[in-house]
Amino acid sequence: MKIVHLSTEFAPIAKAGGLGDVLVGLCREFVKLGHDVEVVIPKYDFLPKTLELKKELASFSCEEKGRSHGNTMWSCMVQNSRVLLLETEHPERYFSRGAIYGCPDDVPRFLYFCKAVCAYFQAQNKEIDVLHLHDWPVAFAAVLARDLFSLKIRKIVFTIHSAEYRGLCSPFDLDALGLDGKKYHTPDKLQDDDPSHKDLISLLKGGVVYSDAVNAVSPTYAKEILTPEIGHDLSRTFCQYKAKIRGILNGIDQVLWDPKTDPVLLSSYSAEDSASRILVAKESAKRQIHDRFGIDVRKTPWIGSITRIVPPKGPELIEAGIRCAVEQGAAFILLGSSPIDSLQRHFDALKKEFSGFKNVFMHFEYDEVLAHQLYAALDFILMPSHLEPCGLSQLIAMRYGTIPIVRCTGGLKDTVIDEEDETVPLEKRNGIVFQSATKKDLSRALTRAISMFRLRSQHFHGMVQRVMKRQFGWTASAQKYLEMYSEK
Ligand code: ADP
Repeated sequence: MKIVHLSTEFAPIAKAGGLGDVLVGLCREFVKLGHDVEVVIPKYDFLPKTLELKKELASFSCEEKGRSHGNTMWSCMVQNSRVLLLETEHPERYFSRGAIYGCPDDVPRFLYFCKAVCAYFQAQNKEIDVLHLHDWPVAFAAVLARDLFSLKIRKIVFTIHSAEYRGLCSPFDLDALGLDGKKYHTPDKLQDDDPSHKDLISLLKGGVVYSDAVNAVSPTYAKEILTPEIGHDLSRTFCQYKAKIRGILNGIDQVLWDPKTDPVLLSSYSAEDSASRILVAKESAKRQIHDRFGIDVRKTPWIGSITRIVPPKGPELIEAGIRCAVEQGAAFILLGSSPIDSLQRHFDALKKEFSGFKNVFMHFEYDEVLAHQLYAALDFILMPSHLEPCGLSQLIAMRYGTIPIVRCTGGLKDTVIDEEDETVPLEKRNGIVFQSATKKDLSRALTRAISMFRLRSQHFHGMVQRVMKRQFGWTASAQKYLEMYSEK
C-alpha cells in the first residue's frame, strides 16, 4: 500500500511527546512489512543539520489570504523511513520558531502546512492508498483533500492522540485558505460542540467528520471519549461517528527504545538476562545519574516521572508523590516541564523547597538522553494521570525493567495490570494500579511499591524481569491498522 502520514512530529528529529515516538515506530513496522511509506512534516529550523536532504519539488505555490507563497518539498531518510519536509517562503516564517508548538499563530501555521502539502500532492499527481492524519494540527487536510483539491486518495484515516486539544479557531481562519468558512461553521460539520464556543470551529471535529476511519489510541480511550467526562462536548460528535472509531493501542519503537543497544547507557541489558544481571545494569544507570547530578541514594527505591507537566497528567498528584516518597525515605526524580507558566512557577518553588534534599531531583528541561538513562535507572515510574489516551512512558519504562505505578485510566488501564490482581495469571501482572485520582489512593500505591522493593525483594526482582518480557512493540497494532486501511 502507498501510505502517507501527515504529522507535526517524527522522532527523533522533531519530537515534543509521544506523537513523535508513535510515528517512527508505526512507520518502521509498515516499512518492514513492505509497504511504501512516507511521512510529511514541516521543515522546522531546529532539525539536525546532518540530514541528507534531496530536493523533491521546488517553487510550488500555495495561497493564503489571497497571496501566493513559494514552497519546496525536501526528502530524507530517518530511521529507515522516508520523511518529506515542507519548507515555505511564507513571510511569517511559520516553521522557524525553534519549537513545534506554543506559538500564538499555531492554527494558521498548521492550516498552511495542510494546504501546502495538498498542493504538493496535486502537483505530483500522487496516487495514495491511505492518507493518515494525526491530531488537530493536520486534521483539516481531510477537508482540503475532499473539498478544495482533487487528489487521488483512496482512504483518509485520522488518529486522535488526544481529544483535549481541539484546534479551536474562527471560521475566518478557513477563509484565509480560500474556503468559505461559514459553510463549515455548522453543527454537522466543524462548529465546536461546546455551547460557549459556538462561534468557533474545531479542527479536531473536522478530522472526525471528514475521515473514513478514526482511531483513538487505546480500547479504553475509544470508549472514554464517548462520555462527557472525557470527551467533553465533543462526546456528542464521537457518539454520532462511533461506528468508524476504533481503539488500536499504540506501541513503542523497539529500535530507539532498547536497553540492549541504547548508546547512552554504560551497561546494556535485555529481557533474556538473569534478574541479577539486570539489576547490576540498572545500578550502573543509577551511578551515571548520580555522577552527573549528585543524587546520592543507592539502596532505596528510585521513583520518577518523565512527563509534560500539564493538568491531564495529574501534576498535583506528582507533587503528592514527591512528598510521599520523601516521607518514606525513597528517592524521587522528575524530568519534565510545563508550557503553563503558573504550573511551571509552582514546580520551580517546589524544587526550591527540596533543594537541600539529596534524594529529590527535578530537571525542568526536555532532555532525551537523560530520559533514556532515567528509564534504565528508575525502579518505578509514576503516572498518576487523570486522563491518558494511551501513554508511552509506562511502555518504555517496562522495556527498561522499570515498574509502572499508574492510575486506572485510558491506555494505562489497558497496559498495566496490578501485581495483586488474582483474576489474571501472574506472568501478566506488571505494575501497581490505583483507582481514584486522590492523594490517599496514590499514597497507598507508593507505599506498596516501596515496601515491595524493601521487604519482598525476590518478588520485586521477578517482576522487573517479567515486565521486560512483555512485548509492547508495533507488530499487533500495525496489523490492526492495516485491517482498518483495507476495510471498505
Ligand atoms: P504525551 O504524548 O501525552 O506527552 P506519552 O507518555 O505518550 O505522553 O509520551 C511521552 C514521551 O515524551 C515519552 O517518550 C517521554 O519519554 C517523553 N518525554 C516527556 N517529557 C520529557 C522530557 N522532559 N525530556 C525528555 N523526554 C520527555
